[in-house]
Amino acid sequence: MATLDSKAPLRTVKRVQFGILSPDEIRRMSVTEGGIRFPETLEAGRPKLCGLMDPRQGVIDRNSRCQTCAGNMTECPGHFGHIELAKPVLHIGFITKTIKILRCVCFFCSKLITQKIKEVVMKSKGQPRKRLAFVYDLCKGKNICEGGDEMDVGKEGEEQMPGKKQGHGGCGRYQPNIRRSGLDLSAEWKHVNEDTQEKKIALSAERVWEILKHITDEECFILGMDPKFARPDWMIVTVLPVPPLAVRPAVVMFGSARNQDDLTHKLADIIKSNNELQKNEAAGAAAHIITENIKMLQFHVATLVDNDMPGMPRAMQKSGKPLKALKARLKGKEGRIRGNLMGKRVDFSARTVITPDPNLRIDQVGIPRSIAQNMTFPKS
Ligand SMILES: [Zn+2]
Ligand SMILES: [Zn+2]
Repeated sequence: MATLDSKAPLRTVKRVQFGILSPDEIRRMSVTEGGIRFPETLEAGRPKLCGLMDPRQGVIDRNSRCQTCAGNMTECPGHFGHIELAKPVLHIGFITKTIKILRCVCFFCSKLITQKIKEVVMKSKGQPRKRLAFVYDLCKGKNICEGGDEMDVGKEGEEQMPGKKQGHGGCGRYQPNIRRSGLDLSAEWKHVNEDTQEKKIALSAERVWEILKHITDEECFILGMDPKFARPDWMIVTVLPVPPLAVRPAVVMFGSARNQDDLTHKLADIIKSNNELQKNEAAGAAAHIITENIKMLQFHVATLVDNDMPGMPRAMQKSGKPLKALKARLKGKEGRIRGNLMGKRVDFSARTVITPDPNLRIDQVGIPRSIAQNMTFPKS
C-alpha cells in the first residue's frame, strides 16, 4: 500500500527557533480574515463562512476543494484560523511565568523593581535562560519601585543588550503582593500608595496585559526573553489561533448528522461567551455582568488548553464525560510526542526484559536463542 507523497513544496530545515506566537503573527497565519465569529458550523447544509467549519480552513468531504489552496482531501493540510477575543485572558500554560514576571516589574510603570541590573547581567552571562531566576531572586523581597540608575551595561561586552540607557528612575510607588487562586489573580498592598489608595484589588488579565506591554525591549532581555521571539505580553491571550479542520475532524454518523470533535465544541463555547461579552460591553452592561462574562471566557480558553487542572472544575460534554483538551492530546505515553512522534521500531532488533542469569558472567549479556537464530537481511 503505497501512499502518495504530498505535493507540498519541500525545503530543508536550517534551524529551529522556539518562541511565543504574537497576536500579529496569529492574524498573519490565519486564513479567516476578520476572525471566526459564529459558533455554528453549517449554513443551509454548507460550511458557513466565518463559522467553525469555515471552508477556507480546509476540506471536509471527498467532493469539495479547499477554498484557500484548492487542494482536495489528500492534498490540503488544513489552515489555521483565529478568534479575536473581546478581552484579554490569561494563558493557562504561561500563568506561572506571567506571575513571576509581574513580581519583577513595577505594577505602575512596568520598570524592573531592582537596581542591581548589572549584577543580573554579570551573573547570567551567556545563559539567558537563568536570567529570570536571578532577577526574581533580587525582586522577591522588594515592595517599592526603585527603578535602576545604572543601565550602562552595554560596554560589558554583553552580546544581547543593545544600546545603553542612563537615568532609568523608578516611580517610587509601593508594590502589591500578587496572588493566584484558580484562574483569578489579586493584588494586595501592605503599604498603600497615596495617589491610588488601593488596598486589595482583583487583578484582571487586561491590567496584567497592560503592565507587561509596557516592559521595554532592553528589560525583556534582562528578564531572559528575546523580544523578537517572545515578549511577556504575548503570554496573555488576545487573539486565539483556531486549529485547521484536519486537526479536529467531524465524524459523520449514519444519516447526515455529524459528531463534532471536542476541540470544535470547546471553540464554540469560546465564541459564544466571547460574543456575549462583546454584546454586553457594547450595550454598556453593569460591571458585575461584564466581570462574569470575562470569567466565563477565561474558563473556556483555559480548558481548551488544559482540562485537568487540580482544584479546577472540568468542562464537560453533554454526555457528562470531560472534554479532551489540547494538553491531553500531547502528553503521556499515548500522546502525540511519545505515542506518535518518537519512533521505536527499527529493523534487526528485538526487545526483552532484562533479568539476572546465574549462568552468565557479570560482563556478559544473554540473547534468547530464537532471536539469535533469526537471521534477516534487507531485500528490496
Ligand atoms: Zn487548503
Ligand atoms: Zn514604578
